[in-house]
Amino acid sequence: MMKPDNTYVFNIQHYSLHDGPGIRTVVFLKGCPLRCRWCCNPESQKYNREISYVDSKCIGLKDCGLCKNICEEGAISFKEKAVIDRVKCKDCLKCAAVCPSKAIRTEGEAYSVLQIIDLIERHAAFYSHGDGGLTVSGGEPLTQPDFLIPLLKEAKRRRINTAMETCGYGEYETLFEAAKYLDTVLFDIKSMNTEKHKEYTGYGNEKILENFQRLCNDYPTLNKIVRTPVIPGFNDSEEDMEAILRFIENKPSVSYEPLKYHSFGRGKYKALGRVYPMGDSKLEDSLFEELKNLRKPALL
Ligand code: SF4
Ligand code: SF4
Repeated sequence: MMKPDNTYVFNIQHYSLHDGPGIRTVVFLKGCPLRCRWCCNPESQKYNREISYVDSKCIGLKDCGLCKNICEEGAISFKEKAVIDRVKCKDCLKCAAVCPSKAIRTEGEAYSVLQIIDLIERHAAFYSHGDGGLTVSGGEPLTQPDFLIPLLKEAKRRRINTAMETCGYGEYETLFEAAKYLDTVLFDIKSMNTEKHKEYTGYGNEKILENFQRLCNDYPTLNKIVRTPVIPGFNDSEEDMEAILRFIENKPSVSYEPLKYHSFGRGKYKALGRVYPMGDSKLEDSLFEELKNLRKPALL
Protein backbone atom coordinates (compact mmCIF):
# COMPACT_ATOMS: atom_id res chain seq x y z
CA MET A 1 0.00 0.00 0.00
CA MET A 2 1.40 3.39 -1.01
CA LYS A 3 1.81 6.11 1.65
CA PRO A 4 -0.48 9.15 1.17
CA ASP A 5 2.33 11.61 0.36
CA ASN A 6 3.97 9.25 -2.18
CA THR A 7 3.44 8.71 -5.87
CA TYR A 8 4.73 6.21 -8.40
CA VAL A 9 7.63 7.38 -10.53
CA PHE A 10 8.70 5.29 -13.52
CA ASN A 11 11.95 7.07 -14.33
CA ILE A 12 14.30 9.74 -13.03
CA GLN A 13 16.64 11.09 -15.67
CA HIS A 14 19.57 13.28 -14.71
CA TYR A 15 21.55 15.58 -17.04
CA SER A 16 18.69 16.05 -19.50
CA LEU A 17 19.18 18.82 -22.06
CA HIS A 18 15.83 18.52 -23.84
CA ASP A 19 13.19 19.09 -21.19
CA GLY A 20 13.46 22.77 -20.39
CA PRO A 21 16.32 25.26 -20.04
CA GLY A 22 19.83 24.17 -18.96
CA ILE A 23 20.80 20.81 -17.45
CA ARG A 24 17.83 19.23 -15.70
CA THR A 25 16.68 16.25 -13.68
CA VAL A 26 13.42 14.96 -15.13
CA VAL A 27 11.04 13.11 -12.83
CA PHE A 28 8.50 11.02 -14.74
CA LEU A 29 5.28 10.40 -12.77
CA LYS A 30 3.24 7.33 -13.59
CA GLY A 31 -0.31 7.79 -14.90
CA CYS A 32 -1.88 9.65 -17.82
CA PRO A 33 -5.48 10.15 -18.96
CA LEU A 34 -4.52 10.22 -22.66
CA ARG A 35 -3.58 7.21 -24.78
CA CYS A 36 -1.56 8.80 -27.57
CA ARG A 37 -0.91 6.13 -30.18
CA TRP A 38 2.69 7.26 -30.61
CA CYS A 39 3.47 7.40 -26.86
CA CYS A 40 7.11 6.35 -26.44
CA ASN A 41 6.66 5.65 -22.71
CA PRO A 42 3.73 3.22 -22.48
CA GLU A 43 4.84 2.36 -18.93
CA SER A 44 3.81 5.93 -18.05
CA GLN A 45 0.14 5.39 -18.85
CA LYS A 46 -1.24 3.28 -15.97
CA TYR A 47 -1.30 4.86 -12.51
CA ASN A 48 -0.44 1.60 -10.77
CA ARG A 49 2.75 -0.38 -10.89
CA GLU A 50 2.96 -3.20 -13.44
CA ILE A 51 5.42 -5.78 -14.72
CA SER A 52 7.45 -5.66 -17.91
CA TYR A 53 9.17 -8.71 -19.35
CA VAL A 54 12.05 -9.08 -21.81
CA ASP A 55 12.26 -12.74 -22.85
CA SER A 56 15.86 -12.54 -24.12
CA LYS A 57 16.97 -12.05 -20.50
CA CYS A 58 15.10 -15.10 -19.16
CA ILE A 59 17.34 -17.96 -17.95
CA GLY A 60 14.66 -20.59 -18.63
CA LEU A 61 12.71 -23.21 -16.66
CA LYS A 62 15.53 -25.74 -16.29
CA ASP A 63 17.91 -23.31 -14.57
CA CYS A 64 15.36 -21.08 -12.83
CA GLY A 65 11.55 -21.20 -13.08
CA LEU A 66 11.15 -19.07 -9.93
CA CYS A 67 8.48 -16.88 -11.51
CA LYS A 68 6.26 -19.86 -12.38
CA ASN A 69 6.54 -21.25 -8.86
CA ILE A 70 5.53 -17.99 -7.18
CA CYS A 71 2.68 -16.97 -9.49
CA GLU A 72 -0.64 -17.75 -7.80
CA GLU A 73 -2.66 -16.90 -10.90
CA GLY A 74 -1.16 -19.57 -13.15
CA ALA A 75 -0.17 -16.76 -15.53
CA ILE A 76 3.32 -18.08 -16.33
CA SER A 77 4.07 -21.02 -18.60
CA PHE A 78 7.21 -21.97 -20.51
CA LYS A 79 8.31 -22.57 -24.03
CA GLU A 80 12.06 -22.08 -24.24
CA LYS A 81 11.60 -18.97 -22.07
CA ALA A 82 8.85 -17.82 -19.71
CA VAL A 83 5.58 -16.77 -21.34
CA ILE A 84 3.26 -14.44 -19.39
CA ASP A 85 -0.48 -14.61 -19.92
CA ARG A 86 -1.46 -10.96 -19.53
CA VAL A 87 -5.15 -11.80 -19.20
CA LYS A 88 -4.51 -13.95 -16.13
CA CYS A 89 -1.80 -11.67 -14.70
CA LYS A 90 -2.98 -9.43 -11.83
CA ASP A 91 0.23 -7.37 -11.63
CA CYS A 92 0.91 -8.59 -8.09
CA LEU A 93 4.64 -8.04 -8.87
CA LYS A 94 5.76 -11.20 -7.02
CA CYS A 95 7.51 -12.66 -10.08
CA ALA A 96 9.51 -9.44 -10.57
CA ALA A 97 10.68 -9.65 -6.96
CA VAL A 98 12.17 -13.13 -7.45
CA CYS A 99 13.45 -12.90 -11.04
CA PRO A 100 17.26 -13.10 -10.72
CA SER A 101 18.06 -11.83 -14.22
CA LYS A 102 15.62 -8.87 -14.18
CA ALA A 103 13.88 -10.33 -17.22
CA ILE A 104 10.72 -9.44 -15.29
CA ARG A 105 10.83 -5.97 -13.76
CA THR A 106 8.49 -3.75 -11.80
CA GLU A 107 7.66 -0.53 -13.61
CA GLY A 108 7.12 2.24 -11.07
CA GLU A 109 8.60 2.98 -7.67
CA ALA A 110 7.06 4.98 -4.82
CA TYR A 111 8.73 8.30 -3.95
CA SER A 112 7.85 11.03 -1.48
CA VAL A 113 8.24 14.74 -2.23
CA LEU A 114 11.24 14.96 0.10
CA GLN A 115 12.96 11.97 -1.52
CA ILE A 116 12.69 13.69 -4.92
CA ILE A 117 13.90 17.02 -3.54
CA ASP A 118 16.84 15.25 -1.89
CA LEU A 119 17.82 13.69 -5.24
CA ILE A 120 17.57 17.05 -6.99
CA GLU A 121 19.70 18.79 -4.40
CA ARG A 122 22.44 16.19 -4.80
CA HIS A 123 22.81 17.42 -8.39
CA ALA A 124 22.69 21.11 -7.47
CA ALA A 125 26.24 21.67 -8.77
CA PHE A 126 25.03 21.01 -12.33
CA TYR A 127 22.11 23.41 -12.04
CA SER A 128 24.15 26.34 -10.78
CA HIS A 129 25.45 26.89 -14.34
CA GLY A 130 22.58 28.31 -16.38
CA ASP A 131 18.87 27.79 -15.77
CA GLY A 132 18.86 24.04 -15.03
CA GLY A 133 16.81 22.38 -12.31
CA LEU A 134 13.83 20.08 -11.88
CA THR A 135 11.37 19.12 -14.63
CA VAL A 136 8.25 17.24 -13.57
CA SER A 137 6.98 15.07 -16.40
CA GLY A 138 4.80 12.02 -16.88
CA GLY A 139 2.46 10.54 -17.46
CA GLU A 140 0.48 13.67 -16.71
CA PRO A 141 1.55 15.66 -13.62
CA LEU A 142 -1.71 17.68 -13.59
CA THR A 143 -3.66 14.57 -12.62
CA GLN A 144 -1.67 14.26 -9.37
CA PRO A 145 -2.18 17.64 -7.65
CA ASP A 146 -1.60 16.24 -4.14
CA PHE A 147 1.96 15.33 -5.11
CA LEU A 148 2.70 17.93 -7.80
CA ILE A 149 1.88 21.10 -5.88
CA PRO A 150 3.84 20.22 -2.68
CA LEU A 151 6.78 19.13 -4.88
CA LEU A 152 6.89 22.38 -6.86
CA LYS A 153 6.30 24.45 -3.73
CA GLU A 154 9.17 22.79 -1.86
CA ALA A 155 11.48 23.06 -4.89
CA LYS A 156 10.77 26.79 -5.15
CA ARG A 157 11.28 27.23 -1.40
CA ARG A 158 14.76 25.75 -1.90
CA ARG A 159 15.39 28.00 -4.92
CA ILE A 160 15.41 25.15 -7.43
CA ASN A 161 14.45 26.18 -10.97
CA THR A 162 11.22 24.37 -11.93
CA ALA A 163 9.61 23.20 -15.16
CA MET A 164 6.66 20.94 -15.95
CA GLU A 165 5.83 18.96 -19.08
CA THR A 166 2.09 18.61 -19.63
CA CYS A 167 -0.33 17.34 -22.25
CA GLY A 168 -2.65 20.05 -20.92
CA TYR A 169 -5.42 17.59 -20.10
CA GLY A 170 -6.16 18.26 -16.44
CA GLU A 171 -8.11 20.57 -14.15
CA TYR A 172 -7.34 24.24 -14.74
CA GLU A 173 -7.28 24.85 -10.97
CA THR A 174 -4.27 22.50 -10.73
CA LEU A 175 -2.49 24.19 -13.65
CA PHE A 176 -3.18 27.61 -12.12
CA GLU A 177 -1.81 26.50 -8.74
CA ALA A 178 1.23 24.76 -10.29
CA ALA A 179 2.08 27.84 -12.36
CA LYS A 180 2.61 29.85 -9.16
CA TYR A 181 5.73 27.73 -8.55
CA LEU A 182 6.91 27.20 -12.15
CA ASP A 183 9.64 28.95 -14.12
CA THR A 184 8.77 27.15 -17.38
CA VAL A 185 5.88 25.10 -18.69
CA LEU A 186 6.35 22.77 -21.66
CA PHE A 187 2.83 22.45 -23.05
CA ASP A 188 1.87 19.94 -25.76
CA ILE A 189 -0.53 21.12 -28.43
CA LYS A 190 -0.96 18.16 -30.72
CA SER A 191 -3.76 19.14 -33.10
CA MET A 192 -6.43 21.77 -33.59
CA ASN A 193 -8.75 19.13 -35.05
CA THR A 194 -10.71 17.74 -32.10
CA GLU A 195 -12.05 14.68 -33.95
CA LYS A 196 -8.55 13.60 -34.97
CA HIS A 197 -7.30 14.41 -31.47
CA LYS A 198 -9.93 12.11 -30.02
CA GLU A 199 -9.18 9.35 -32.51
CA TYR A 200 -5.42 9.37 -31.80
CA THR A 201 -5.33 10.22 -28.06
CA GLY A 202 -8.70 9.16 -26.65
CA TYR A 203 -9.97 12.71 -25.93
CA GLY A 204 -10.86 15.84 -27.88
CA ASN A 205 -8.69 18.96 -27.58
CA GLU A 206 -11.20 21.48 -26.12
CA LYS A 207 -10.04 21.26 -22.51
CA ILE A 208 -6.37 21.46 -23.54
CA LEU A 209 -6.82 24.56 -25.70
CA GLU A 210 -8.95 26.26 -23.06
CA ASN A 211 -6.35 25.50 -20.37
CA PHE A 212 -3.60 26.99 -22.52
CA GLN A 213 -5.61 30.13 -23.27
CA ARG A 214 -6.41 30.62 -19.58
CA LEU A 215 -2.77 30.06 -18.62
CA CYS A 216 -1.72 32.78 -21.09
CA ASN A 217 -4.32 35.15 -19.64
CA ASP A 218 -3.43 34.48 -16.00
CA TYR A 219 0.36 34.15 -16.37
CA PRO A 220 1.45 36.35 -19.27
CA THR A 221 5.12 36.41 -18.19
CA LEU A 222 5.50 32.66 -17.48
CA ASN A 223 7.91 31.04 -19.96
CA LYS A 224 5.77 28.72 -22.13
CA ILE A 225 7.29 26.30 -24.61
CA VAL A 226 4.59 24.84 -26.85
CA ARG A 227 5.56 21.51 -28.36
CA THR A 228 3.93 19.49 -31.11
CA PRO A 229 4.94 15.90 -31.75
CA VAL A 230 4.73 15.62 -35.55
CA ILE A 231 3.05 12.27 -36.17
CA PRO A 232 2.56 10.51 -39.52
CA GLY A 233 -1.10 10.30 -40.51
CA PHE A 234 -2.17 12.51 -37.60
CA ASN A 235 -0.78 16.04 -37.99
CA ASP A 236 2.02 15.82 -40.58
CA SER A 237 0.53 18.37 -42.95
CA GLU A 238 0.97 22.06 -43.62
CA GLU A 239 -2.69 22.61 -42.77
CA ASP A 240 -2.34 20.98 -39.33
CA MET A 241 0.83 22.90 -38.47
CA GLU A 242 -0.56 26.22 -39.71
CA ALA A 243 -3.64 25.79 -37.52
CA ILE A 244 -1.44 25.34 -34.42
CA LEU A 245 0.77 28.30 -35.35
CA ARG A 246 -2.31 30.50 -35.75
CA PHE A 247 -3.58 29.42 -32.32
CA ILE A 248 -0.37 30.24 -30.46
CA GLU A 249 0.72 33.37 -32.28
CA ASN A 250 0.40 36.64 -30.42
CA LYS A 251 0.17 34.80 -27.11
CA PRO A 252 2.53 36.08 -24.41
CA SER A 253 5.94 34.53 -23.54
CA VAL A 254 5.45 31.58 -25.90
CA SER A 255 8.06 29.77 -27.97
CA TYR A 256 7.42 26.85 -30.30
CA GLU A 257 9.14 23.51 -30.82
CA PRO A 258 7.92 20.78 -33.20
CA LEU A 259 9.22 17.31 -32.23
CA LYS A 260 9.89 14.57 -34.77
CA TYR A 261 8.03 11.26 -34.45
CA HIS A 262 10.16 8.24 -33.57
CA SER A 263 9.37 4.66 -32.69
CA PHE A 264 11.99 4.13 -29.95
CA GLY A 265 9.24 2.99 -27.55
CA ARG A 266 8.24 0.01 -29.71
CA GLY A 267 10.18 -2.55 -27.59
CA LYS A 268 8.53 -1.29 -24.41
CA TYR A 269 5.08 -2.20 -25.74
CA LYS A 270 6.28 -5.76 -26.31
CA ALA A 271 7.72 -5.87 -22.77
CA LEU A 272 4.32 -4.80 -21.40
CA GLY A 273 2.53 -7.42 -23.49
CA ARG A 274 0.96 -4.78 -25.73
CA VAL A 275 0.90 -4.12 -29.47
CA TYR A 276 2.64 -0.97 -30.74
CA PRO A 277 -0.26 1.11 -32.10
CA MET A 278 1.71 2.95 -34.82
CA GLY A 279 2.78 -0.19 -36.71
CA ASP A 280 5.54 0.61 -39.22
CA SER A 281 4.67 4.30 -39.59
CA LYS A 282 7.57 6.58 -40.47
CA LEU A 283 8.05 10.31 -40.77
CA GLU A 284 10.53 11.30 -43.47
CA ASP A 285 13.24 13.75 -42.35
CA SER A 286 12.54 15.96 -45.37
CA LEU A 287 8.83 16.31 -44.48
CA PHE A 288 9.63 17.10 -40.86
CA GLU A 289 12.17 19.76 -41.89
CA GLU A 290 9.63 21.27 -44.26
CA LEU A 291 6.95 21.45 -41.57
CA LYS A 292 9.39 22.65 -38.93
CA ASN A 293 10.48 25.53 -41.13
CA LEU A 294 7.02 26.42 -42.40
CA ARG A 295 7.22 29.82 -40.80
CA LYS A 296 8.06 31.33 -37.47
CA PRO A 297 4.90 32.16 -35.52
CA ALA A 298 4.46 35.80 -34.52
CA LEU A 299 5.08 35.60 -30.78
CA LEU A 300 4.94 38.23 -28.08
S1 SF4 B 1 12.33 -15.79 -12.78
FE1 SF4 B 1 13.08 -14.55 -14.49
S2 SF4 B 1 14.88 -15.62 -15.27
FE2 SF4 B 1 13.76 -17.06 -13.94
S3 SF4 B 1 12.50 -18.21 -15.38
FE3 SF4 B 1 11.26 -16.50 -14.62
S4 SF4 B 1 11.58 -14.82 -16.11
FE4 SF4 B 1 13.15 -16.37 -16.47
S1 SF4 C 1 2.76 -10.20 -11.64
FE1 SF4 C 1 1.38 -11.46 -12.86
S2 SF4 C 1 2.65 -13.08 -13.70
FE2 SF4 C 1 3.81 -12.14 -12.03
S3 SF4 C 1 3.34 -13.38 -10.22
FE3 SF4 C 1 1.86 -11.71 -10.23
S4 SF4 C 1 0.07 -12.47 -11.36
FE4 SF4 C 1 1.79 -13.86 -11.78
